[in-house]
Amino acid sequence: MLEVHGITKHFGDQLAVADESFTIHPGEIMGLIGQNGAGKTTTFRMILGFLRTDAGQILWDGQPVGKMNRDLIGYLPEERGLYPKLSIEEQVAFFGQLHGMRKKDVLDALPEWLERFDVKGKRTDKLKDLSKGNQQKIQLICALIFQPKLLILDEPFSGLDPVNASLLEQGIQLMKKQGAAIIFSSHDMSNVEALSDHLVMLKNGETVLSGTVDDIRNQFGRTRIYLQDP
Ligand code: ATP
Repeated sequence: MLEVHGITKHFGDQLAVADESFTIHPGEIMGLIGQNGAGKTTTFRMILGFLRTDAGQILWDGQPVGKMNRDLIGYLPEERGLYPKLSIEEQVAFFGQLHGMRKKDVLDALPEWLERFDVKGKRTDKLKDLSKGNQQKIQLICALIFQPKLLILDEPFSGLDPVNASLLEQGIQLMKKQGAAIIFSSHDMSNVEALSDHLVMLKNGETVLSGTVDDIRNQFGRTRIYLQDP
C-alpha cells in the first residue's frame, strides 16, 4: 500500500506541490489530474525518490520508500526515453533485468506483451524504426513486464489513438487485477473517469478535489467531472 502524507515541494519561491495526501491500496487505480504545471510530475518524482520532499512522508507498506522499494515501481515517464539503436527485445530485456528479471524470463514473456498491445513489428526491429505509438507501447511494456507492485504512469494516454488507448486501458485493468497499486496522470477526464477508483485533482500544487469518481460526481450533481472543476 502506498501512503502519501502531506508532501510539499518548492522550487525556489515556486510552490509546486502543497500538503498533498492520498493512499493507494493493492488493486486500486488512482487518477491524478490537473492542468499543465499543476504538480503531477513533481508528485511522481517525489514518490520515485528522484526529488526530495520539503515536508511530509511517503510510505510503502508502512515503511519510508527507499531504494529497495523503488525496484518494485514500474514507471512510465512523461518524456519518453528509449534507446533508439536497441531492438525491441534488447530494450525490454534491459529494463526487465534492471528490475531483477532473468533475461530468459523477459524474452519468454515478451511475445504475450507484444500481442497484448498489438505492437507492429518484429522483436528484432530497432526502436528508431517504429512509429511513435509503437515506441510508447514498448516503453509501457518496459514498465509492466516485471509485474511491479506500484505502477506510476505519467500521461500514458497522450499520443495514443482510440484503439491503442483502449488496449492501454485493458493493460492497466490487467495490472489492477493482478494486485498492483496504480497511479496515472491525465488531462483527459474520460480515461480518468473510466479507470479510476478514486482521483485527486491538483491546481497550482494544491489538492482541490479528492475522492471516488462517484463521490465527486455527486458533489457536483452531474455525471461528468471537468478539469476546470471545482
Ligand atoms: P504538465 O501537465 O504540464 O506535465 P504537471 O502537473 O506535471 O504539468 P509539474 O511538472 O509537476 O506539473 O510542475 C509543477 C510546477 O513546478 C510548475 O510550475 C513547474 O514549472 C515547476 N517545476 C517542475 N519541475 C521544476 C524544476 N526542476 N525546477 C523548477 N521548477 C519546476
